[in-house]
Amino acid sequence: MATTLLSLDFLTELTLISSQSDSADKFVREINYLFNKYYNFDNFKIFIYNKKEDYLYDFSKDWQLLNPGEAYLKDIIKNIDTDPIDKPLNILYLDGKIFDFTYKKEIEVYKNSKIHLALKVDNTIIALLEFSTQYKTELMASDIRYLEIASAQITSFIKLFLDKRNLIREIDYYEITQELLNHFEKRLSFNNIGRILGEVLDKFLTGHLVYIFAKSKNSLHKLLWPKNCIIPDIYDILSTMNNGYKILKDKNIGVFTVKVYKNTCFYIVVYDKGTKIPADDIKYLAQISVQLELTMQKSYLYAQKVREANIDSLTFLNNRRAFDNKLPDLLEKAIATNMPLSFLLLDIDYFKNINDEYGHLAGDKVLTKVAKIIKSQIRLNDFAARYGGEEFAIILPDTTSDKAVILAERMRKIIENTKFYYKKDKYLKSSVSIGVSSTGEDCNKIRLLIQKADTALYLAKQNGRNLVTGS
Ligand code: GH3
Ligand code: MG
Ligand code: MG
Repeated sequence: MATTLLSLDFLTELTLISSQSDSADKFVREINYLFNKYYNFDNFKIFIYNKKEDYLYDFSKDWQLLNPGEAYLKDIIKNIDTDPIDKPLNILYLDGKIFDFTYKKEIEVYKNSKIHLALKVDNTIIALLEFSTQYKTELMASDIRYLEIASAQITSFIKLFLDKRNLIREIDYYEITQELLNHFEKRLSFNNIGRILGEVLDKFLTGHLVYIFAKSKNSLHKLLWPKNCIIPDIYDILSTMNNGYKILKDKNIGVFTVKVYKNTCFYIVVYDKGTKIPADDIKYLAQISVQLELTMQKSYLYAQKVREANIDSLTFLNNRRAFDNKLPDLLEKAIATNMPLSFLLLDIDYFKNINDEYGHLAGDKVLTKVAKIIKSQIRLNDFAARYGGEEFAIILPDTTSDKAVILAERMRKIIENTKFYYKKDKYLKSSVSIGVSSTGEDCNKIRLLIQKADTALYLAKQNGRNLVTGS
């Protein structure tokens, strides 16, 4: 070993590399070159050690597995970790054997030997340096001294790099959580949520495969994203879970549940083919799934309340409130797109008599049945509501007055011919009167549209009931 070459130059270059490297990969490449130049060492590697999780990974290849041939690194770590000598930098391993320079001035390094140096922060191993050499060589005490200084320098680079990466991950985590919560608040469909969740998490967890499954009340577990799952017994695993999270099979499968409502649940599944899922990722996913769960439950309850607030509890049609919100929207759209819109007011004839003669419950049954008939006769884009007591309003977008009258006439006939059962085998007969109005030059205001239909309805009543009258 040409110790004379080992000078300040080596340390200066090392400092430059540390300050100029913006990636772990570049740093390791440059240092490799440096050690080769000054020490004839080649194949310099840095392995990061996570003591809590007991896993090692190649610093220059981010979460990548160690290959099977590198399994000996774990033993070295274990030896160093239980080592009674508490001087972090003076411990050097040569071919797996400890070498303490307190007692010896130099070591002979044989061809193809491996030298290991543990890097410690607060007496905890954070990384392991590995050098190998193709030449038989001798390391003098002064060489070791330089290696010590170099390893301190490398340690601080790694520490800074890991801290920075953690910080970036924290920011990423914050951002994806926000993104997902925003999506979830929009109450998208199951399939859409599955896809978005999958795509966003896939971007965040680059090292693993991500799958999204869902289960709703009476259905089986279903893969929502992506198209196929390569974990063979995944459905068995999912069927054992309905809350919290689980890390299985030597920690390479993680299942995180996002419970929306009673038996409705999303599953985030992460899979690492051969390695454990890093503790950080487990922590993030556990937090994300809890956050999503809260948001989804809130949004589910909100949707339920909105539904309840807009639905008439007797007929399950939209209520007056929903109607009042809907009509301005549909009318505005019709005017903007220059399309016709028609409006029906339907009132049950002599309804008071039905109540009086057959009882209030029979009256309720007639109301429910009329609502059902209305629903069965309108299109998906039409909007029917219970307008008041025994009066119904129906908005018909893209419908001219002629077509509206035809529809109204059809409904009137069906109702006229319906047997309204109020007891098991007792029925009564009823009828309705319908007033029709449509948009046109003089009728592009909500008030006018309703007024015209109301006048037409009044006319139908005047003319004997069980009639359709246009305006
Ligand atoms: P017309 O042919 O002129 O429309 O006569 P009508 O008897 O249908 O009209 P009126 O407005 O006099 O009576 C409506 C009745 O509807 C009075 C009210 O008690 C009854 N009603 C309103 N809401 C309900 C309900 O939810 N259930 C029942 N059973 N009756 C209701
Ligand atoms: Mg009536
Ligand atoms: Mg009425």
